[in-house]
Amino acid sequence: MTAGTSQAADATRTPLQQPVTELRSVGPERAALLSKLGIRTVEDLLLHAPRRYEDRTQFRAIRDINEREPVLTRGRIVALGTKYFRKRTRSIFEIILDDGTARLHCRWWDLPYMEKYFARGNEVVVFGKPVSLKPRTMDHPETEVVEGGEETSIHLYRIAPIYPLTEGLPQRWLRALIWRTLEAHRKDIPETHPELGVPGLPDPWGGPGAKWLPRAEAVSRLHFPGNLAEVEPARRRLALDEYIELQKEIRARRKNFERNAEALPCGGDNTLIRPFLQRLGFKLTNAQTAVLREIRKDMSGAHPMRRLLQGDVGSGKTVVAACCALMALESGYDVAVMAPTEILAGQHYLTFSRWLKPLGIAVRLITGNSKPETTPEAEPGPGPLRPSMVIGTHALLHGGFAPRNLGLVIIDEQHKFGVSQREQLVRKGRYPHALVMTATPIPRSLGLTLYGDLDLSVIGELPPGRGEIKTLVRTRASLPKVWEFIREKLAQGRQAYIVYPRVEEGDAAVKAVVKEFDSVRAALSPHTVGLLHGRMRPEDKARAMHSFRDGTLKVLLATSLVEVGVDVPNATIMVIENAEQFGLAQLHQLRGRVGRGSHVSYCILVPGKSTGTARERLRVLENSQDGFEIAEADLRLRGPGELLGHDQSGLPGFRFGRLQEDLELIRFARTLVARAG
Ligand code: ADP
Ligand code: MG
Repeated sequence: MTAGTSQAADATRTPLQQPVTELRSVGPERAALLSKLGIRTVEDLLLHAPRRYEDRTQFRAIRDINEREPVLTRGRIVALGTKYFRKRTRSIFEIILDDGTARLHCRWWDLPYMEKYFARGNEVVVFGKPVSLKPRTMDHPETEVVEGGEETSIHLYRIAPIYPLTEGLPQRWLRALIWRTLEAHRKDIPETHPELGVPGLPDPWGGPGAKWLPRAEAVSRLHFPGNLAEVEPARRRLALDEYIELQKEIRARRKNFERNAEALPCGGDNTLIRPFLQRLGFKLTNAQTAVLREIRKDMSGAHPMRRLLQGDVGSGKTVVAACCALMALESGYDVAVMAPTEILAGQHYLTFSRWLKPLGIAVRLITGNSKPETTPEAEPGPGPLRPSMVIGTHALLHGGFAPRNLGLVIIDEQHKFGVSQREQLVRKGRYPHALVMTATPIPRSLGLTLYGDLDLSVIGELPPGRGEIKTLVRTRASLPKVWEFIREKLAQGRQAYIVYPRVEEGDAAVKAVVKEFDSVRAALSPHTVGLLHGRMRPEDKARAMHSFRDGTLKVLLATSLVEVGVDVPNATIMVIENAEQFGLAQLHQLRGRVGRGSHVSYCILVPGKSTGTARERLRVLENSQDGFEIAEADLRLRGPGELLGHDQSGLPGFRFGRLQEDLELIRFARTLVARAG
């Protein structure tokens, strides 16, 4: 870089964008360590949040510490050393502290290099959990050597921040660096959204009369709060900024889209929907009708529809999708439906063929292996091209699929796809309408962040005449009784799923299912048992599913492949083995495969390891049928990453935002941004 360009860069850069390498006490080695933590600029440094705090205004006397109770204490090193054993392959490094009331042993296993951080006579602050009181001992506590001098007040006699570190980076050094950087740059921290005037507004969570902190004050209190109660309001202010940022982005995207996208007129004229509904065999629920009214308005409106349809498992989203498709088809446009698995795409193919072919609509299936299933009748015949429907898996995203005149895209079980895949399919046409559906109720906080650019419709009601689902948790020991019970129900003509969920469809999972197959067949004989797992050939999968649907197979032993969308109303029993390995939302999805007919259904959860927390989690399912409630519990218990699955793209990373807790705060941000226009 020439001197000229670097000067130009300096001129446009804000003080917070200054690289940390230019700070006086940061050499190349420390800079490399900081960058491992994602800290490259002054701003990164100031937004590096402590992972916890120590109240160093009060230390417990060593004499008064209790077994297994985390405690902050301090003392002077009176002895230290390393013991080696097992031919020097193992070691214990130990320091002994004395504070005048008693002694405390601190031990580290197999970390002999710890020696170099301590010397006899050092004063040490210790945070840890005593494992024993005879003698008083802590293993692998967190420690900090107290050094005298003018900086003492940064580290001691205050609430001290404890930062996430990386190996080789001293806590004390980082704390001092942040302190000094804050002193120098506090004045440079701007209000991020000045037009919203946040600092003057009341903070509804802050108690009577509380106002939002100025951003600079929030950053300062985040690191060096006057007391612990100051931390959360500071975090909340910084999280609010993140949510405002995101909502602004979402709005901008939406506005840009509305400016550029011209909607295709897809409102329809009822010529297909009317006969369809007459022949359907059931009446739409009020919830379904209300949703369809919203959808029709979108599809005949000025902007292409971008709508998320949420409805609990079994609420009847497919028939809503069919009506929506008919509106587009009536209007002369093609429709594409994308589903996450071949089984579900195959099932939709059957359903939509049954519904739409009598109306003269061609329905085609495209999956990675779809050749055997595109029956000749599905091929468009000679004559003028009529609008048609295509159903498929991810295969629709590939180059081969090029619809002529795409008016509507429907994505089922959207949570199994990433946001980018949704966009990829939409781009197959010129601003088609898009309806995305999900049965895994997304906790509202996630919905507002992930799907914030979509309008939301909810089917909040199940069709009438559904049998009750009884959910029971049973131990492995009681399996013989469970088999007995299932044989009884099979004899009455019902069908059953037995599910071996695995996080991944790996070889080990397949082996487990195949091994169980024989013993389950023996346990349930003479009833017929079929097998379904991800490593089977597509035609075998389709055959198994078909036999189960037509009742030749009474029992389907499956991996979690049956999780999404499968609809066989006569199946009323589901046994889920190793149930603790799965998230609650996913178990709720699985459970949704039963309870689709009028008979009472049973979902029997059998944990592999029955730990206390596993049972507690499964009890949520025993006690609730409400998908939203279950999803919220799941988010609380496992966090957003686990809930959505790791392949979910598009989840924004927050430094301060906590989706588990911040629903109201996200709404607050959304309202602020909307009000500003
Ligand atoms: P999901 O919302 O989980 O995708 P489905 O669309 O698979 O649910 O519907 C579940 C079952 O309910 C299907 O067998 C469907 O035909 C049936 N169904 C849908 N709507 C109604 C209704 N209004 N009355 C009766 N049965 C319905
Ligand atoms: Mg469905």
